[in-house]
Amino acid sequence: MSASGIIFDLRKYCIHDGPGIRTTVFFKGCPLDCWWCHNPESRHSLPEAMPVGSQASNRASDQDRRAATIGCVVSVEHVMAQIVQDEIFYDQSGGGVTFSGGEPMMQIDFLMALLAACRNCGLRTAIDTCGYALEEDFDRVYNLVDLFLFDLKIMDPALHLEFTGVTNELIHSNLAMLASRGGNVTVRVPMIPDITDTRENLEAICSFLEPLANVRRVGLLPYNKLGEDKSLRYQLPRRGRRWETQSPEEISWRKGLFESHGFSVTVGG
Ligand code: SF4
Repeated sequence: MSASGIIFDLRKYCIHDGPGIRTTVFFKGCPLDCWWCHNPESRHSLPEAMPVGSQASNRASDQDRRAATIGCVVSVEHVMAQIVQDEIFYDQSGGGVTFSGGEPMMQIDFLMALLAACRNCGLRTAIDTCGYALEEDFDRVYNLVDLFLFDLKIMDPALHLEFTGVTNELIHSNLAMLASRGGNVTVRVPMIPDITDTRENLEAICSFLEPLANVRRVGLLPYNKLGEDKSLRYQLPRRGRRWETQSPEEISWRKGLFESHGFSVTVGG
């Protein structure tokens, strides 16, 4: 275990990144540039200094106006030492470890080493992925991942390019490949008002998923304002207007739509 990689956070006792109680490791770097990014400090691959506090509060003092370094280089041993501390919680809750980001597939060697280490320790693993990675890299991780949390955002290729910075063909082909191999996949849809959260787009997602064997779980993620707050905190540019989080009533027809196509639907997490 000599590999190292760059993470920007490691959170314990997570309950929204897969089943049970989990430790979630957040990799730095993402190939997408979503307008609504909920972790905008994760996008660039290297550790970086960001101003903290100067716009986050009217009450910010000079002491608050400082730079924080986001991201650090860590070894597999360092990450595993923190992960195994909570083994008892994973056992009792059916939980495990989730690799998220950013995009964990961007640091494939580091991810492989961590997945292998988890497998050696008997820990269940999940990866939270945008799906934009080489098929051969998904092939490498396939047997070491117990659950793929696979994001689908926008079905229209031109709109996907406009709002995420990349086209969606590779994402779709990777999801189809995982499904054809019988992978344990939950598709997650971030609900961004008027962008991903339109009837036309949600119906297109249903139509795309319907023929994919084994993909029968969908997670709808109501819009989360965390990214707006972080952009303010770290003084990062943000495109698009401020959106409102959908109410449970507003989510209900979306949930019903997916259920009418035979999917098991969860909301949030
Ligand atoms: S895929 Fe996720 S981490 Fe990457 S830019 Fe989009 S929202 Fe942010």
